[in-house]
Amino acid sequence: MTPENLLAAQKEFFLSGQTKPLKFRLKQLKKFRDALRENEQYFYEAVYKDFSKSEFETYATELSLVYSELNLAIKKLKKWMKPKKKRTNLANLPGKSYVLPDPLGCTLVIGAWNYPYQLSLIPVISALAAGNTVILKPSELSYNASAIMAKIFNHFFIPEIFHVIVGGVKETQAFINLNFDKIFFTGSVPVGKIIYKAAAQNMTPVTLELGGKSPTFVLPDTNLKMTAKRIVWGKFLNAGQTCVATDYILVDKKIETQLLEELKKQINKQFPDFSKGVPENYVQIINERNFDRLMNLIDKEKVYVGGTSDRANRIIHPTIMHNVTFKDPVMDDEIFGPILPVIAYENLEEAIEEVKQRPKPLALYIFSKSKRAVRQIQTEISFGGGAVNDTVMHLTNHRLAFGGTGSSGMGNYHGYTGFENFSHFKSILKKPYWFEPKMKYAPYSEKKRKFLKFLIE
Ligand code: NAD
Repeated sequence: MTPENLLAAQKEFFLSGQTKPLKFRLKQLKKFRDALRENEQYFYEAVYKDFSKSEFETYATELSLVYSELNLAIKKLKKWMKPKKKRTNLANLPGKSYVLPDPLGCTLVIGAWNYPYQLSLIPVISALAAGNTVILKPSELSYNASAIMAKIFNHFFIPEIFHVIVGGVKETQAFINLNFDKIFFTGSVPVGKIIYKAAAQNMTPVTLELGGKSPTFVLPDTNLKMTAKRIVWGKFLNAGQTCVATDYILVDKKIETQLLEELKKQINKQFPDFSKGVPENYVQIINERNFDRLMNLIDKEKVYVGGTSDRANRIIHPTIMHNVTFKDPVMDDEIFGPILPVIAYENLEEAIEEVKQRPKPLALYIFSKSKRAVRQIQTEISFGGGAVNDTVMHLTNHRLAFGGTGSSGMGNYHGYTGFENFSHFKSILKKPYWFEPKMKYAPYSEKKRKFLKFLIE
């Protein structure tokens, strides 16, 4: 089927109204869950082939989140779909007001490679729950994961409801110029701009889940051991190829040395096998282009831990750089790999100012016991979301809407927010026949004007 024909088939199906009833939506979500459950092993094998992501990590960081979203949507959908009452203003009394969630129509989801399942499938779940049809285009870089999603879901679903396309730039371009009712994109800022521009031609609304440099502040009053433990976990998970990983650390100069020592200890503890070659449970860099890009960011003079690599296996050992400044090349763009620069500051206000001058981060983390300092950083800097005394974990709470701001993205999802994202809320006012104020109608008079002013002001 050509892209045009596929979308036309979905449009016809959507316009038939079949996707709207609760029963239909629940059936799709349960079918989706069956497709996953019955084929889980293939999903593990595929992503392992792509970048040797272990079964544990694939479940913990991908499939568990997908199942949680599915279970939540199945449980809550009836409630989410109900009209929601709103208070009515004086001028419309004794009327009633409510909002009615309505599916947007035919939607396109474009996924990134770093978490190939959850970044593609969670938006699809939200779209189906909201009563839309979906075309999913996962990333070509995680080829095996994309191919298995296409094979399994295209077997379970008819293309009029949900279809997965395998392909790269050319295939994506063929879809983004079509007249979708929504495009949901996860990926880089430059490609986000291409998507936004293409969508504008058709006035298609977009959600852009992008990236950026996410800072982690470490203040002197923190618990250093726990801080290092949580930073190392969040940073080297997926070999740093995580959109919300700590991109760099801003640490108070007074505790710089202790923090570096604790980070080193944690790396040795969490990845004890490095001395024996390629460790189990450590993810590869997705391809050689990214491997070379990352190795070029390592300034050997500034390596505190790591800096070593194995090109044949596309492994870069957990690397910490110290004595880094904002002028170093590693601070130019999002790192998206297992390299962690540490910048020491003497003055917190100046450090905050430096971050404020840069594009708005997707995530921001603060390690401190001081409520005042936490509040100061959180109110002064714009960023998507984050955590206090932890990293990355905020995105596992579906009650916290996930998304960026400024160049780190626009729009949110996860849980009910995902349902909202793929719905339009029709605002409705319902009036009874038995009451109608005369003052609304011509001929107008000074008395009517005064009464209106009295009511409003
Ligand atoms: P990418 O932008 O290169 O690719 C994303 C998708 O866009 C892929 O499906 C790809 O096929 C498609 N694409 C690539 N070039 C295109 C073009 N010229 N025209 C049309 N489509 C094109 O991103 P990536 O390398 O897959 O992912 C890494 C980036 O994604 C990082 O910046 C990271 O921070 C960001 N990211 C963000 C989130 C989030 O939730 N905010 C999650 C993961 C990754």
